[in-house]
Amino acid sequence: MHPLSKEKMKGIYELPLIELIHKAAEIHRKNFDVKQVQISSLVSIKTGGCPEDCAYCPQSAKYNTEIKIHKLIEPEELKANIEYAKKHGISRICLGAAWREVRNNRDFDKVIEMVTMITNEDLEVCATFGMIEEEQARKLAEAGLYAYNHNLDTSEAYYDKIISTRNYSDRLKTLNNVRKAGLTICSGGIIGMGESAEDRISMLYTLHLLQPHPESVPINTLVPVKGTPLEDQPKISVWELVRMIATTRIVLPQSMVRLSAGRLELSTEAQALCFIAGANSIFAGDKLLTTPNNDFNKDKQMFDLLGLQPKPSVHQKIAEYNRN
Ligand code: SF4
Repeated sequence: MHPLSKEKMKGIYELPLIELIHKAAEIHRKNFDVKQVQISSLVSIKTGGCPEDCAYCPQSAKYNTEIKIHKLIEPEELKANIEYAKKHGISRICLGAAWREVRNNRDFDKVIEMVTMITNEDLEVCATFGMIEEEQARKLAEAGLYAYNHNLDTSEAYYDKIISTRNYSDRLKTLNNVRKAGLTICSGGIIGMGESAEDRISMLYTLHLLQPHPESVPINTLVPVKGTPLEDQPKISVWELVRMIATTRIVLPQSMVRLSAGRLELSTEAQALCFIAGANSIFAGDKLLTTPNNDFNKDKQMFDLLGLQPKPSVHQKIAEYNRN
């Protein structure tokens, strides 16, 4: 796909909603089996005490929030998460650590061990550990890491309203290091932080210009947390989320579009609309890092009702192929 101009992208974002959804659904069907939705789980392996000041995040040490802080867990503690994943059709586990950046220390050795443990079970592993150097990313790739997550969060223009402890180019540098190390990229953003439509389009434009496109794009809706600067931010309408998902599907046609934080607020009907508009992944489990998430049984009912199937991991597909 040749890069679109920003004006063209704006034109897509502003299409009449029904036309936008139809267009996105068509592109979705061309690129994916629309019945398959990947279920991922997000495990916070080190929670809180982060020196960064992301205005939406309860894990920043700068805000007084009610999260339960803990240091890095031991690799054995992940065994229950792996078992749970395998039993429930979860094919991707994302490991989150509230670090500013990856350091070459004993904790790094432990996360390498965790990555290998999960990969050996044929699950995709994604890591979100903050800024990372190419060499460190390479070590994680050698251990079996499938993807590295580093969200752009919002547009470059709005970035300093949300974070002051790093800048947009730091973000892009990490994404570049991840790509050079041969990992797939997971990068998306959050809507509902007071940004304009222009900011949302700009963020998507930056992601669209990355070549190749990020393989995975989480679209989060802000979950305001007490004690953070965005605690009183008004909720956005579900139609804005659907518009964002549909635009993402059109401009990043082959990326996995992940319906992420904020899903708890959505009815089954609203989620169905997001799947029609091109979302093809959800996060399962009662917590999304530190904020509440949907009940697994309710998700199972939703899958049954809509005729959705859990999408297998890349490793499971290869194993299946080799068996036949
Ligand atoms: S979003 Fe990540 S980098 Fe920002 S404060 Fe939270 S844990 Fe730290």
